[in-house]
Amino acid sequence: MAYKTVNPFTNKEVKSFTSLTEQEVTAKIDQADACYKEWRKTDFATRRAVMKKAATIMRENKAKFAGLVTLEMGKLISDAEGEVDLTADIFDYYADNAEEFLAPEILKPKDGRKAYVEHDSIGIILCVEPWNFPYYQLVRVAATNLMAGNVVMVKHASIVPQCAEAFEQLMLDAGAPKGAYTNLFVDSKHIAAIIHDRRIRGVAVTGSEKAGASVAGEAGKALKKSTMELGGSDAFIVLEDADLDKACKWGIWGRMNNTGQCCVAAKRFIVVESVADKLLKQLTECLSNLKAGDPMDRSTTLGPLSSEEAAKEIAELTATAIKHGAKAVVGGKRPDMPGAFMEATILTNITKENPVFYREFFGPVIMFFTVPDEKAAIALANDSEFGLGGTVFSNNIERAQKVASQIDTGMVFINRPTWTSPDLPFGGVKHSGYGRELSKEGIMEFVNRKLIYIENKG
Ligand code: NAP
Repeated sequence: MAYKTVNPFTNKEVKSFTSLTEQEVTAKIDQADACYKEWRKTDFATRRAVMKKAATIMRENKAKFAGLVTLEMGKLISDAEGEVDLTADIFDYYADNAEEFLAPEILKPKDGRKAYVEHDSIGIILCVEPWNFPYYQLVRVAATNLMAGNVVMVKHASIVPQCAEAFEQLMLDAGAPKGAYTNLFVDSKHIAAIIHDRRIRGVAVTGSEKAGASVAGEAGKALKKSTMELGGSDAFIVLEDADLDKACKWGIWGRMNNTGQCCVAAKRFIVVESVADKLLKQLTECLSNLKAGDPMDRSTTLGPLSSEEAAKEIAELTATAIKHGAKAVVGGKRPDMPGAFMEATILTNITKENPVFYREFFGPVIMFFTVPDEKAAIALANDSEFGLGGTVFSNNIERAQKVASQIDTGMVFINRPTWTSPDLPFGGVKHSGYGRELSKEGIMEFVNRKLIYIENKG
């Protein structure tokens, strides 16, 4: 897809960009490779200084960074500011902790010799990233890899080119040498050729199942390690002993945050029948009060989707659900206003025969299921191709923990929607992908855990 900024609030094109030619891509890989040869030798203090500076620049220029997010993909301005803060926190986190995470691990072999594992860099990591968190997705791969001595080349989503440019400039302004962080404005069909360049040593993808399967396939053919952070259809389980006010408040946040365009959004509400009607009524009231409008206006509570195409897609999926017997308790269609909007929607009566049953709703649509009991809730939660996050609401924490242990996903939050923090591992199982980002686990994905063994006793 061509790189361009289209404001989803107006659907007007703001700026377009030229994609790189093959020769330009090769020149950029040459530059990244030359940079890697030097960057890998830098000490932690040098790398730390770049991360710290990047965090400071982001915080000092929050309005500029956040404004670009809102312009290009329609995130509510206060949420965009929150994303800038979170991104800066991740820079800080790896600046403060990477050296400890990557310290050599002393082994105790049975033969009494000395041995240890050191954590070396491996080279250029190619990253393919989505538009839904235009900076947060980038820092997850940039801070980890740069602190580990790798360099990164990033194909950002084509609808957020100004955010992509702002991030690349940020890294330069923070003191990263040219080639440490490289933007690649390339069409996704060129990604395969880049993966096969022998200097690319790893591939990280965050995006849809379809993109993940395609890139993972190429990485596999080229025998390159990959991590896949893909889609989800997280269950939001509400048991009969839950605090319903809290479940409603957090449920709305978990589903509507970023206009429903989060991989870990609460997409399937699975509610025990004794409390289902009450919760459904509460949720319906809350959703009816959301105010659609300009995402730059701080009184707006429902922004546009990231693009007209995204809005059409979610509206079509909702229409398909309804055609096959689902009921829209609230919303269900596009509102009568310009821009990439979709009504906040709750769908009930979704049977397993409905073609949307296994689909990811990437927008402001709740799939609401009523189940007889806890056992049925767990079974339905696990009846999904995805396995990213999930939530259990119950006032009995021990019980909620037991339920959480039975959910086949990479993350389960109790009494809160699944969310993210620099120090918590993030990732999924099944079609939601493999590998982890953030925390110590994130920095370990693209390092050579190299064994050093010393024969001499002593
Ligand atoms: P997408 O269409 O897969 O796009 C993501 C990135 O992949 C973009 O840069 C896109 O480029 C590129 N891409 C698409 N097809 C490709 C291919 N065949 N080969 C190489 N690159 C390709 O996904 P999206 O709609 O932007 O993002 C939404 C999806 O991401 C959802 O499924 C969501 O759940 C998932 N997600 C997962 C996580 C996580 O951490 N697990 C986080 C956020 C989002 P173009 O823009 O040029 O098409």
